[in-house]
Amino acid sequence: MAKMLYEGKAKKIYETENPNEILVYYKDDATALNGLKKGTIIDKGIMNNTITTFFFDLLGKNGIPHHQIKKLSDREALCKKVHIIPIEVVTRNIAAGSLAKKMGVEEGLILKRPLVEFYYKSDELGDPMINADYAVSFDFGTDEQVNTIKTYALKINEILKTFLLERKVRLVDFKLEFGVDAEGNVILADEITPDTSRLWDKDTNEKLDKDRFRRDLGGVEDAYQEIIKRLTGK
Ligand code: UDP
Repeated sequence: MAKMLYEGKAKKIYETENPNEILVYYKDDATALNGLKKGTIIDKGIMNNTITTFFFDLLGKNGIPHHQIKKLSDREALCKKVHIIPIEVVTRNIAAGSLAKKMGVEEGLILKRPLVEFYYKSDELGDPMINADYAVSFDFGTDEQVNTIKTYALKINEILKTFLLERKVRLVDFKLEFGVDAEGNVILADEITPDTSRLWDKDTNEKLDKDRFRRDLGGVEDAYQEIIKRLTGK
């Protein structure tokens, strides 16, 4: 049995025979409110592996380097081992969640231009918001790496926003994580799923993401399945 290197809220990471590669295992566990609310979304791991693989393939074809090598099974993906930069990079097109609350605006306000935010990845501290200067001063990365992250986040936003809109989904906001690979390059890592993004139906604004779990709206599994259907046509 391969050694587990790390267990997060939604995934487990195992070592492989190759020191430069890891195995990602997607769980069904769901958490919200910084871990206060816990539950299960049936087959979420299977759906999120499918969705992440789909998005990473799309981004790879569009010139974004990422960590995924290949999907191995329903719940497993083989990925490049990276050093994770401890920043949650949130990009937003429409105000929702913590931004709507902070700025005192209705959820659904369309932003004049996409907004990129950085949060320090720390459960203990509740992921405090930081900026690019914090990231460099606290040695999370160099100026160049932090600039690269922002440039990638905006490019990824354009690729995903356009793709999703053609499938009648509005990309409200999403969270990314980046890592540094063995060659020293900054590459996209972690996942892109309805757990880490807000996806609204273009016509009805119906939520097709983890807000259904966070806000007890019901129909969580169906929403994730609907996203797969819109992405793949299946
Ligand atoms: N997000 C995430 N992990 C976090 C916090 C936020 O994936 O620890 C995602 C969330 O799903 C949403 C976006 O980042 O798509 C912005 O979240 P927000 O700051 O509005 O926080 P929330 O209201 O979800 O607590």
